[in-house]
Amino acid sequence: MSGATDMPPAANAADENPTAAREVLAFVWGYWRAVPLRFAGMLLGTTLGVVLEVQIPRLSADLVVVVEQLLRDAAAPADAWRTAGWLLGVFGAVFLVKQLYLRNWMYLASQVMQQLVADGFRRVQRFSQEWHTNHFAGSTQRKITRGMWAYDSLADTLVIDLGPALGLLVGFTIAMGLRDPALGLYFGIAVSVFLAASIAMSIHYVAPANVLSNDADTTVGGALADSITCNTVVKSFGSEEREDERFHMASQDWRLKSRRAWLRSMDAGAVQSVLLLCLLGGLLGIVLLRTEAATDRVEGAVYVIATYLVVHSYLRNIGWQVRNAQRAINELDDLVEIARTEPQVENVPAAPSFQPGPGAIDFDDVRFGYRNQPRPIFEKLCVHVRPGEKLALVGESGAGKSTFAKLVQRLYDIDAGRISIDGQDVSQVTQESLRTAISVVPQEPILFHRSLAENIAYARPGASRDEVIRAARQAHAHEFIDRLDHGYETLVGERGVKLSGGERQRVAIARAILADAPILVLDEATSSLDSLTEHLIQEALTTLMRGRTAIVIAHRLSTIRQADRILVFDDGHIIEEGSHDELVRRAGGRYRELVQMQAFVVDALEEPEVEPEAQDSRESA
Ligand code: ATP
Repeated sequence: MSGATDMPPAANAADENPTAAREVLAFVWGYWRAVPLRFAGMLLGTTLGVVLEVQIPRLSADLVVVVEQLLRDAAAPADAWRTAGWLLGVFGAVFLVKQLYLRNWMYLASQVMQQLVADGFRRVQRFSQEWHTNHFAGSTQRKITRGMWAYDSLADTLVIDLGPALGLLVGFTIAMGLRDPALGLYFGIAVSVFLAASIAMSIHYVAPANVLSNDADTTVGGALADSITCNTVVKSFGSEEREDERFHMASQDWRLKSRRAWLRSMDAGAVQSVLLLCLLGGLLGIVLLRTEAATDRVEGAVYVIATYLVVHSYLRNIGWQVRNAQRAINELDDLVEIARTEPQVENVPAAPSFQPGPGAIDFDDVRFGYRNQPRPIFEKLCVHVRPGEKLALVGESGAGKSTFAKLVQRLYDIDAGRISIDGQDVSQVTQESLRTAISVVPQEPILFHRSLAENIAYARPGASRDEVIRAARQAHAHEFIDRLDHGYETLVGERGVKLSGGERQRVAIARAILADAPILVLDEATSSLDSLTEHLIQEALTTLMRGRTAIVIAHRLSTIRQADRILVFDDGHIIEEGSHDELVRRAGGRYRELVQMQAFVVDALEEPEVEPEAQDSRESA
């Protein structure tokens, strides 16, 4: 699954490595094993219930015989009352035992379901950024919650329905065999044929259609999530109808596949009904043909019919239950896949915590490529960032600047070489400790749909309100927060949509200020701000960067003039490096060219000082 993605619908083809049923069962068993007493109690209760229920047809037949004898004065009324009492007693005991084990089961089921969903969430949270880039959030959320309910359905089917049903069938086969071996033999064979046919139809006829229908269901979820998440884009292009059409394709595919799955279910049910009729007919025939005495015939017929009535509902449902179990197994498959997918970026065993130091960052011969890219973006990249250095990364879009910053945080594992911070290999320390030592203000800050105070304090959950406000003031976020009706308690909407881009960025900056980490990554941190706010925040950022190592990614070159060193990236290579003044003087240099381009666009930008020869070359150009 690590390689699989939700993105293209074709990747959801039903035959894509379906997890074997036994793997799903082993997965479920792992959860039951964790609560041994409750599970053992459940098994004990079920067995007791089966033993009691097997007595019902015999007691029913006894009662009919006693009543018939009573009519002929061949038995006393007390005999009839006693037999009726036994029958009622057994019914009552079955009821009580079931009550007890089902209540126990509810504790067990709710406990396991909570654990399942928590484990799924825990795992997915720790999957790499690459995994998350390749999987729709909506689909993943559906896989986890659907898996939780699929467990509920599978466990109920196996333990409450199928287990007792199979126990009863074995019990009745033995009981009938003891009465009349021919009856027992026929019952055993007929039930086996019924079970084999039901299971075969379930697995080979109904289940494949269910798998396709589930995949279509996941695709519908993904398509919904994709369009709804990007609703702003949809609106801005007025493309609602285009999106409707696109969604219609997904929902139509779901409709066709689901209908086929349901019809196949009906077909299987019809075959089962015919087989059940044959079972009853055969049993009655054997009883009536093989018994001589009228009383025996009455007793035998009542016994057979009572048995049939007890097992009928179990048998009738067995096909449905097998199909249900099969469907639940298919639906749990996604959760099992999540559980068996190893985190793509893992802590090494017993990894120590990162020990923040002065903030020296080293890239030594680093090779890195995104999995879906034909060639590595970095080859033998070597960069040394001095403690406390303000390093600016510039270059065209797609040159690798953000990737560089992501590798510092170890959001991806590199293919070769070494990245270390303060002499500690980033791949050898825990990811959590490494990332808490790095504050990031991303290009497009994402906020939780929680209060502004919570969003700012996310970097330091224990922060007091005063500290939150102080950070917000420094980031010039306090002004706009203060104007809101609910101030710091305002909820920001999904991913922070209720705030403007600039406001989101200021909240993210306040968050980074509060984090107080020794290393700062500012990835276009002020790109959404107006010039005045940017100027104010630049001051705050300059203060923030003091005494810390900072990696500043900027397209607006005016924001990085003060950087100690500028690296110019081009297609994953560093083609120039130096301070602003050095680079701007370099004739024919890329940085100088970028500055000139921006100076051309932004009138306010000062004319760069250039060396005479560079001046000449520009004039001649
Ligand atoms: P920008 O200035 O536009 O942010 P950048 O210089 O930061 O660009 P990166 O985001 O580092 O560029 O991207 C470098 C290359 O890697 C680009 O070709 C981009 O398409 C590719 N890339 C980035 N992220 C991924 C990803 N998650 N999976 C695959 N390829 C990616």
